[in-house]
Formats: sequence, structure tokens, C-alpha cells
Amino acid sequence: MSTGTVDRDDTASTTVRCAACGVTLSDRTAQSTCTACGGLLVVEHVPHHRGNLLRAVFDERAAAALRDVSSTGRSGVWRFRELVLDADDDEIVSHPEGNTPLISRAAIAQFAGVDGILVKHEGHNPTGSFKDRGMTVALTQARRVGARAVACASTGNTSASLSAYAAQAGIPSFVFVPEGRIALGKLAQTLAYGARTLQIRGDFDDCMRLALDASDKLGVYLVNSVNPFRIEGQKTIVFEMLQQLNWQAPDWIALPAGNLGNTSAFGKALAEAHHLSLIDRLPRLLAVQASGASPFAQAFASGFVDRIRVRAETRATAIRIGDPASWDRAVRAIEATNGMVISVTDDEIFAAKHVIDRCGVGCEPASAASVAGVRALVQRGTIRPQDRVIAVLTGHLLKDPAGGEVDVRAAPEPPLTPDDALAMVERVLAQATESSQP
Ligand SMILES: [Zn+2]
Repeated sequence: MSTGTVDRDDTASTTVRCAACGVTLSDRTAQSTCTACGGLLVVEHVPHHRGNLLRAVFDERAAAALRDVSSTGRSGVWRFRELVLDADDDEIVSHPEGNTPLISRAAIAQFAGVDGILVKHEGHNPTGSFKDRGMTVALTQARRVGARAVACASTGNTSASLSAYAAQAGIPSFVFVPEGRIALGKLAQTLAYGARTLQIRGDFDDCMRLALDASDKLGVYLVNSVNPFRIEGQKTIVFEMLQQLNWQAPDWIALPAGNLGNTSAFGKALAEAHHLSLIDRLPRLLAVQASGASPFAQAFASGFVDRIRVRAETRATAIRIGDPASWDRAVRAIEATNGMVISVTDDEIFAAKHVIDRCGVGCEPASAASVAGVRALVQRGTIRPQDRVIAVLTGHLLKDPAGGEVDVRAAPEPPLTPDDALAMVERVLAQATESSQP
């Protein structure tokens, strides 16, 4: 696998750099964090065009997609490839994904108190959540680096998306989950697409360590939440929204905030769009947390002086995170967009969900936090009724229908120790190698 450090090539349009020590890696790196210092990696782009010319490239691909069913412009991610990843056509693993609608409903406008509010529904992606936008890029990168397998430690929408895209790419996939509670719908989906789902005796941190071990020792490509290519894919929620708005920036973009991957990705997308003159002003980001899982909102209220960790509890399971992974990048995103971070109660989230569901749109509980947050800021007088507001819904109604979880300890396979799990991954990979020999 390619993990080497190279000098920056000014003619290249995609580079990968460590945000901490500044070292530059090949854009075909298989690392998900810096080999030198362990810091987070960022992907940087130098497109040949900017402004009108770059908008025209993106708009022409959208138009061509209507004429040519095999065009990569059919994907709402790869249509923006100059700002995502400069992969060859035959390397791209695309469903296609994206092309999610901007939806207008009088009931949502009335509830939020904003006349023209639109919701961008990422639940319309292939596996029912925004995760597909990052996963199409991560699996494309897995193919580019010749990964033997892909893995994540996740109990949620990530594992369903990983499993689907790995199936399409024909690459074995592993999902490590801690023993205990996980959402039934999400697990069923992961199993159906064919990922090897291993229940590990331990907590989430044990699963993460196992994933890192599998990456180091067995050449398994890790697509955890800080994988820089997933962030690049998630940026296209913003690019696609701006294109749908004919490149007229809205006043506000509201989104649910848990692990802060989207907050970071949205901030990066807006900075790039503004820098490249795709838009002429920056919208303000509104990141909305559940009050029982609101370390980022608490930190915002005190000027981001301290990083805060909490014991998270909310019925909005997709944002039930007490120690968000993408903290520093999300702080920069909020500061750079003059953004805000607030929290809303579970009752407020479910009141918003009720309205969204009953007008026929529907979403998973965490998604409704964005609309609940807009309503709260209208009541405070911060958002005005005439403002142009886009609220992002991150997941489909069926993702978490009862807000319920099942106890997977009742599952037939007993939990594995991390060592036993690593040995099992090795056996599966050996079998896969054997069966691919002529
Ligand atoms: Zn570094």
C-alpha cells in the first residue's frame, strides 16, 4: 500500500496534508491519520478553474447526467470531483448517490417560523443517510490503494453505508461493534449488504483499537469518522445545495450535530466555495445538539475556551455523542461562518419530528434537531422570518422508527475478544485471497 511521504506537487489538484505537523502525503495514501505524528489529515484541492468557469463545469455535468446515464455527473458527489477527489473514472465506486431534494412544506415553515425554509433531505441517499456521500469517496480511495478489506467501528448509519459500498466494490468489509445495545434497523441493513459484523467484548474504544490493529497488521483500510476522504464527500451536501439554489448563498444552514463530522465538512465546503468565488458571501452555520448530548453547545456558550466531554443521553441516537471526534475542525467551521451552536430538548426534537413526519416528509429523530433549532432561534429573534434558511435532515424515517434499540446480547454468536476478532479477520482475508487465485 502507498503510505509514503512526497514533496508537494504544485500541478496536482489533490493533496493530503497533516493538519498538525504539515507533512504532505501522496493522494493515494492508505492512512486515515498522519504516520509521522498521529494528527488528522486534510485533503486540499487546487482546481484549474474558479468562479463562473467552475460553476459552469458543475452545471454542465448536472445537465449531461440527464442525457447520459453512465456519466459520473449523475452522482451528487462526483459531479463536484474537482473539490472531492481527482480519481480516475474506473476507480470510482458510485451508486450513484446524492441528488437529494430541497423540500418546501407549509407545515414545516409554520412550525419553524421561517416563511421560505427548505429542508435538504439526505435520507434520500441509497442507504438512507448522508453517510453514503462520504462512503462513496472512502471506498473509491480503498480501491485506489488496493485495500484487501475495509473496516469501521460503528453501530449506526456508517456501518450500513460501509457494508453497501464495500459490496458494490467487491471488497470484504468488517464492522466491529461493542457488545450491548445497537439500533435494530441499522444492524439489519449492515448484515443484509454482507459486512462481517463482529461483536467485541469491550466498549467502543476497544473496537477502535481493534480496527487500528487490523489496519496496521493486515492491510485493512480504515473508514472511521476522521477518515479525510469521508469529509470530502460530505462537503457535497453543501455544494449540491448551493447548486440547487443557483449558487445564491442562503442566510443560514442548520444541521444536527453529534460527532461534528458534518459541521467540519460544511465549514470546509463553505470556505472553499467562498474562496473559489462559487458564492459571494458565507451563510451562517447553525449546529444543533440534543440537550442531553451537548458538549459543543456548552463550549460555544463559553467562547470555546475549553473542550468539554459529557456522558451523553438522548433519544436521538444518531447524535448521542459525549466526546465528538471532529472538535477542532468544527470550532473553526463555526468561527469562520459567524455560526452558532445551540441545544434543544428531546421534547423539542420530537415535536419537530412530528411535524416533519405528518406532512409526509419524515426523518429519523436526530434529523429533526435542525428544524427544532431553527424554531428556537426564531423565538429568540436571531433568525428572522424572512431569512433564507436550509435545514438539513440527515437520515430516513425508517432508520430508527421507534427510537428503539435491541439487546444484541441475545444474538446467537457470542461476543469475541479483540484478539479472537483479529484472528477471525485474518482467516477471512486468507480465504478471500485463496478463492481469488486462478
Ligand atoms: Zn503529522
